[in-house]
Amino acid sequence: IPPPPIHTVNSVCCYCGTGCGVQVRTQGERVIDVAGDAAHPSSHGRLCSKGMNLAATVRRDASRVLTAQLRRNRQEERRPIALHSALSAAARRLAQTLRQHGPQAIGLYLSGQLLTEDYAVFNKLARALIGTNNIDTNSRLCMSSAVSGYVRTLGADAPPACYEDLEHAKMVFIAGSNMAYAHPVLFRRLEAAKARDPAMKIVVVDPRRTDTCEIADLHLQITAGTDVALMHAMLNVLIWEGLVDHGYIVRHTEGFEALKRRVHEYTPRAAQEICGVPADDIVRCARWFGSCGPALSLYTMGLNQSSSGTAKNAALIHLHLATGQIGKPGAGPFSLTGQPNAMGGGREAGGMATLLPGHRDPANAEHRAEVAAAWGMDSLPETPGLTAVELFDATLAGKVKVLWIAGTNPAQSLPNQAKVRAALQRAEFVIVQEAYAHTETLEYADLVLPAATWPEKDGTMTNSERRISRVRAALRPPGDARPDWQLACGVARRLAAEIAPAKAALFRYRSAAEIFIEHAGLTQGRDLDYSALSHALLDSAGPQQWPYAPLGAARPRLYADGVFPTPDGRARFMDIGYEPVAERPTARRPLRLTTGRLRDQWHTMSRTGLVPQLTRHAEEPCIHLHPDDMKRLAIAAGQLAEVESGRGRLVAPAQPDAALKPGHAYMPMHWGSGYMAGDGVNALGNDAVDPLSHQPELKHSAVSVRPL
Ligand code: SF4
Repeated sequence: IPPPPIHTVNSVCCYCGTGCGVQVRTQGERVIDVAGDAAHPSSHGRLCSKGMNLAATVRRDASRVLTAQLRRNRQEERRPIALHSALSAAARRLAQTLRQHGPQAIGLYLSGQLLTEDYAVFNKLARALIGTNNIDTNSRLCMSSAVSGYVRTLGADAPPACYEDLEHAKMVFIAGSNMAYAHPVLFRRLEAAKARDPAMKIVVVDPRRTDTCEIADLHLQITAGTDVALMHAMLNVLIWEGLVDHGYIVRHTEGFEALKRRVHEYTPRAAQEICGVPADDIVRCARWFGSCGPALSLYTMGLNQSSSGTAKNAALIHLHLATGQIGKPGAGPFSLTGQPNAMGGGREAGGMATLLPGHRDPANAEHRAEVAAAWGMDSLPETPGLTAVELFDATLAGKVKVLWIAGTNPAQSLPNQAKVRAALQRAEFVIVQEAYAHTETLEYADLVLPAATWPEKDGTMTNSERRISRVRAALRPPGDARPDWQLACGVARRLAAEIAPAKAALFRYRSAAEIFIEHAGLTQGRDLDYSALSHALLDSAGPQQWPYAPLGAARPRLYADGVFPTPDGRARFMDIGYEPVAERPTARRPLRLTTGRLRDQWHTMSRTGLVPQLTRHAEEPCIHLHPDDMKRLAIAAGQLAEVESGRGRLVAPAQPDAALKPGHAYMPMHWGSGYMAGDGVNALGNDAVDPLSHQPELKHSAVSVRPL
């Protein structure tokens, strides 16, 4: 028998928001290898270690959820059932809950790993069929402060820069981002740009001297959580030294005078006291920002995962507005998206409690009416939806009875795990739609729906530079696994049959391409308009950036004309001050615990944890401490230490780390309770949220550390 033919499928890496193009070679039901796609305009063939090892993560064995499973009560084990029975069971339970308790008793919690088409269906299901805005996503833990910062200053959730700007910048300000690990392909590109232009200045703001600092001209080793004071002091210096662009401020912005009065008190000396960064370094950084030429800021979780995340984002954007460093080659505030499709799903398709499709606002009656009309509905629900932390709080309080979780692992990733796990136990019925068989959240599932995963799904994702790429299926899903949108449609049609038969027609999609057409139509006339795009066009013309104008010029960067998507076309300075972290260190818990990514792991490791090559980089969780702190605490290198935050405790070997700012402790975010004594690191994390973005403060908790 001749071997099956080899096929090559162009797709996109399923991990970070860089969105690198890949070529997947398959033979029969096997992926032979995955290589970079040289033709992809965002990555030009480059891949990092995670992308290069994608082939080894494609499993069709017991590591996968291959069948649906149901348990009739919590005392029983789950048993495999036919997929159609599982979809009916989900629909029956949702219908029963709707009749008994109403739509607010149901919550959906999705993932930035899902494709835009998955999100579009789930969103319609929640709002148009169930009648709730209780749909949120793990993008809430990732980018919601970036959304909130962009909307409140620039008027829309649109990163204004593009990857090409890495080559045009003369000053690069990296804040709260270990790019070398979290966005390695972009970091390599920046490294190459710096090698070509050694005069380029690079500044890194981080409590740790990470690998990203290897190319930095200046490392501002900031006390975790104090970024607003630092950036206000930079603005103070820019104003004092005449480095702001008054013409730009007058022509294109509002609110500068109030902010100017506020930052007056943030002198470099005052900021030094708050941030622990030498005043001279703050002055030097501000001078470079204002005088080197095009200034590009790159930032991510260090700013976003904070109880003042919106203020941090806004304070950074202020630096660009005040100097006119936006809308030009090499300039702009450029948030690096954590997850592969936080942009496309949570933000563009509106799969978040605080958003509707096409960058619309569920609190805006006109926006609700527009979406309702597009879906053939009279109206959409008005009651504000619950965001991630609120959703689990409401479940713990017994208000949300049924939770439907898809493509994410909240029993490991959300902060304050004791509360989250208690909520999952309190829920009357938990549906978990999942591809991998060993996630912590599956322990709480009453019903498991088997999900297809990369590279078994067809659809689209949008990366950090607003570029939409096709994700293509290279293999059939194993067992009974199905693409997430198909599982959602299967439940939706059955639920409609029980509660509103006419609405079944809302979910009769034959393909992901059909869903995309409907979704793209909802962007028409909005800032991100890509209503002229389709799967067919993406297939023939390749990945495209939004806003997409088929007959107009491409717009790789936004706001070149100084016109912003606000009612008067002017950007806004926010009059905001520095607020300390939600939980300050005390005598009892004197250290500041912060977390971050490892180079070769992804989130809770349900996928990357399967690959031995990827675990070699860091084989076990350690608590990193500055050598001075270890001496003071009488902890030896490698000795087991107990870390406690008031929300949880864990035990891990101590690792001396002179790269860490004294008074801080650090752990990678990936490991859960299965890998160490006590709880996973996120169990210790703080669930205090930013009041505007509702993003929790995963980057800072007060902890005690003691030797065991
Ligand atoms: Fe995948 Fe991100 Fe690595 Fe690119 S940089 S290969 S998208 S993990």
